[in-house]
Amino acid sequence: MRIVLLGAPGSGKGTQGKQLSEKYHIPQISTGDLLRAAVAAQSPLGLQARAAMDAGQLVSDDIVLGMIEERLAQSDARNGFILDGFPRNIAQAEALDALLARIGKPLQVSLLMDVDFDLLMQRLTGRRTCESCSRVFNIYTSPSKIDGRCDSCGGNLRHRADDREETIENRLKVYEAQTAPLTEYYKNRSKLKTVEATGEIADIFNGVCGLLNAVRKEELQRAKEVPADVEAIAAAVTKKLSAAKEEKTMSKPAKKKSAAKRKPAAKKKVVAKKKVAAKKKAAPKRKAAAKKKAAPKKKVAAKKKAAPKKKKAAAKKKAAPKRKAAAKKKAAPKRKAAAKKKAAPKRKAAAKKKAAPKRKAAAKKKAAPKRKAAAKKKAAPKRKAAKKKSAKKK
Ligand code: AMP
Repeated sequence: MRIVLLGAPGSGKGTQGKQLSEKYHIPQISTGDLLRAAVAAQSPLGLQARAAMDAGQLVSDDIVLGMIEERLAQSDARNGFILDGFPRNIAQAEALDALLARIGKPLQVSLLMDVDFDLLMQRLTGRRTCESCSRVFNIYTSPSKIDGRCDSCGGNLRHRADDREETIENRLKVYEAQTAPLTEYYKNRSKLKTVEATGEIADIFNGVCGLLNAVRKEELQRAKEVPADVEAIAAAVTKKLSAAKEEKTMSKPAKKKSAAKRKPAAKKKVVAKKKVAAKKKAAPKRKAAAKKKAAPKKKVAAKKKAAPKKKKAAAKKKAAPKRKAAAKKKAAPKRKAAAKKKAAPKRKAAAKKKAAPKRKAAAKKKAAPKRKAAAKKKAAPKRKAAKKKSAKKK
């Protein structure tokens, strides 16, 4: 079970909590005990808490909440716990609810130990606690057999520092101001059960157990009732639906809708229009956003695409002079040959022209003896005839 024990200092929370822990096999977690242990160990947390405790004031919520969270996380608290002296104010109660909601294990009951104020004073001033096993005695109502010695372990009994009269008054004031409002807090959440905590300890314990049994029964009942409720709701819904269907088939199609029925429809239309308008309004923004989003991609893609072209162009530019030179080099012999070819006839003609007179002269030269010989030859008979003629004359 998950239980909070509520009650003023001296109301018997510690005593009943111990017995409940034994009965239900769940830990009793007392923030007062945890704090006292921290003080005794002189831990930094204990040193921080000590002053407030000695003055009968509450220790800061931070310290106590941290302690509780850590303690509830331990494995022995998995199946339930009895919180004794926690929560002490509304803030702590809310923090506890949140913590338990987080782990999906809400509180089942807050048990208020109701004790008369005068009796509280007697219990607190007469209380003696065993230093070894923490068993509690009271010099007025339940004294140990040997004065100052624990009946269970023989340990030393001591009067708690905060159980002295001047501190007790303060603690009770703090309880009235800060802790008593928790009864309302749990009442509003239907978690509060009150037990008359006067009389014999065993009788009080019986009363406590009776209340806890009642809580368990209520829970079981609720668990059973839930499906019944669900069935009842489902039946009612089906009935309404079939009634509505029947009404629809009975009514003529031309029948005008009642104003009450039209209203939600009109509302729906308005809502639909609003949605369309909102979409329209949002569309350009969405497009712009999409464009914006896409823009860098596009740019990158364009750059990428353009890059090879650019690179190629640059490379071309760079390579052009080389290429030109190479081409020239390559083309040069051809060009020279072509030029030569082209120029050759001219050159030949020119050469011919130039050579012609020489050639003619040469030819003449060459031809001259021949011509002379030919002429001689040609002239020879004539000359012979003339000679002959002249000889005849003689
Ligand atoms: P208790 O034994 O429960 O009466 O606690 C003894 C003292 O410890 C109290 O007077 C407070 O100073 C401190 N204390 C115990 N529990 C709490 C708590 N939940 N919040 C703040 N202070 C506490």
